[in-house]
Amino acid sequence: MTLTPAQVSEELEESLTEELLILLFLLRETVDSKTLKEAYATGDPQAVVDSIDWETFKAGLSSITPILLDAYSKGSKSAVSESSANFKGGQIDLTGEKAKAFLQAIYDMIERLLQATKNGVYSVSEKALEEGMGSKSAGPLIIALLGLTSQAAASILNVRKAQIKNGNPLKSVKAALASQVDKSLLARATFISEDELYSSVSQGRNDTWEQWAIAGFISSDSLKQWVTRADEFVCPKCGPLHLVYTYIGNPYPGGLISTPAHPRCRCYERLA
Ligand SMILES: [Zn+2]
Repeated sequence: MTLTPAQVSEELEESLTEELLILLFLLRETVDSKTLKEAYATGDPQAVVDSIDWETFKAGLSSITPILLDAYSKGSKSAVSESSANFKGGQIDLTGEKAKAFLQAIYDMIERLLQATKNGVYSVSEKALEEGMGSKSAGPLIIALLGLTSQAAASILNVRKAQIKNGNPLKSVKAALASQVDKSLLARATFISEDELYSSVSQGRNDTWEQWAIAGFISSDSLKQWVTRADEFVCPKCGPLHLVYTYIGNPYPGGLISTPAHPRCRCYERLA
């Protein structure tokens, strides 16, 4: 049986989501609320960002590396299991050049995640300052919203504003927000997990094919094929690529090198 990248990544999704969720919650622990309030009192959102111990957070983030490497290696295994006898080759060499490049991509992803989280803190602080919130109420709010993107944090702040405007007691506003924040953190962790795991599995498959071509297991002009689910949910970006071929290691018409084409993409590739 051939496992698609979606099926392979599903298996690992729970562990990565859990890991990310823990990290996002732990981020709050790394913040010294007194330092944060002092930074907020300067009126500069960047000072708030700089008051957080990002090095510790980044070190924690690297704990997701083994899970992504596992997905990459499982992608390679799935490529091996679906290969027919005439081009059966080995699994990806995890000490090889391709795996090293993949590891570099994980580090880059961690940097992006870090930057997105910093941007979130910046925009929450900026918005709180705009609203004239004092450091006493802004401090705990910023800590609570740590880990969310700018957009998610902004929408929660808007809900807070509306509820206070409606005259809801502050205590009930706080409780309602706490559950909303937790839901948003879970949604963010799930989104990152799905996306990164799927990309890792797909990369493992592609790197394996390329490794085979280099090793001579398969011809260097072997073709691979893009496969969509071919249902009514296929997006305009992926639809035209259905069953289109390209040489392994080469882009498809339109420039995409491999699946996924976008977050939540359900397409996969197979060796032709
Ligand atoms: Zn797609």
